Amino acid sequence: MAKRDYYDILGVSKSAPKEEIKKAYRKIAIKYHPDKNPDNPEAEEKFKEAAEAYEILGDDQKRAQYDRFGHEGMRGAGGFGGGAGGGMSMDDIFSQFGDIFGGHNPFESFFGGSGGGGRRSGGRKGSNLRIKIKLSLDEIAHGADKKIKVNRLVVADGVTYKDCKTCGGSGQMRKVVNTMLGQMVSASTCHTCNGSGKIIDKRPAGVDNSGLLQKEEVIDIKIPGGVGEGMQLSMSGKGNYGPSGGPPGDLLILIEEKPDELLKRDGNNVVYDLHLNFVDAVLGTSVEVPTIDGKVKIKIDPGTQSGRILRLRGKGIQDINGYGAGDQLIHVNIWTPKQVSKEEQEILEKLKDSPNFSPNPGKNDRSFFERMKEFF
Ligand SMILES: [Zn+2]
Repeated sequence: MAKRDYYDILGVSKSAPKEEIKKAYRKIAIKYHPDKNPDNPEAEEKFKEAAEAYEILGDDQKRAQYDRFGHEGMRGAGGFGGGAGGGMSMDDIFSQFGDIFGGHNPFESFFGGSGGGGRRSGGRKGSNLRIKIKLSLDEIAHGADKKIKVNRLVVADGVTYKDCKTCGGSGQMRKVVNTMLGQMVSASTCHTCNGSGKIIDKRPAGVDNSGLLQKEEVIDIKIPGGVGEGMQLSMSGKGNYGPSGGPPGDLLILIEEKPDELLKRDGNNVVYDLHLNFVDAVLGTSVEVPTIDGKVKIKIDPGTQSGRILRLRGKGIQDINGYGAGDQLIHVNIWTPKQVSKEEQEILEKLKDSPNFSPNPGKNDRSFFERMKEFF
């Protein structure tokens, strides 16, 4: 279907000044506004058509382009939805009203709507709930399914409603106002019923005057592996329900870490302090060390020094964003006996003078060089 000429739509001449175009559009917008013409597709069509025409003729640059090239020239001009078949969304149209009515959209108050035809859904969104969860290292490493009791506001059963007396059940307060556009009916949301038109007649004990009831619920929470201290998870829709039928808020879950007795977490790595018997460090051995996946046997080479770090690759915590797993680091500490028997003391004193038992400095051993200085 061929598009109508934009000047014809607004009923103005091709030479009409900007102010006249604005006025013409204002009149049509008010006449065919969807809130004044509910369930009237013809009016809606006229309303949209006028909005599209004004979008072009109300803009000097777009108007000049339209004057030269007609509808063809408006393709891709960014006029409305990229120009593909035209048609502005209702949101586009309502955002235009800021200009037309001098920064004040009369339909906000005149028709009680926030644009889009002004059909409002009940109440506002409910509040968020916050809980803390303490997790063991095992739960952090592998993820966990937790059942948590929360007290949330839910919609109560057995509540009966009656029409709001303040607004007579319409949800809106209307009054006649004189404006530059003539006499208009001003409508605003009724504060007694928050626009729902209904108020509570009878409610069971414990139900508040929004029709909500505090109720203990058990919520299944799936914690992914790799979470950490201070992280916050969010479960949408598991918070408190809103008043007057509003949607529920979210459940926010704050993660706390329980310290582990054996394994320390360092980012995605896990650190374990291994205390080795002095003889095992000299002769080599194999020992069991704990990991997040149970015990693992590792080999200790003969001559292993205190302070050495052994690495178990990939035995750390899985990254929460899927960037692989960390490592387990094993810090080797040589255990020095605090007391020895007379016999042991004799053996140790014999060993003391063996050249094998004096430190064997490496090239970068500073203390060795420092000691050498004392000789010269
Ligand atoms: Zn009311």
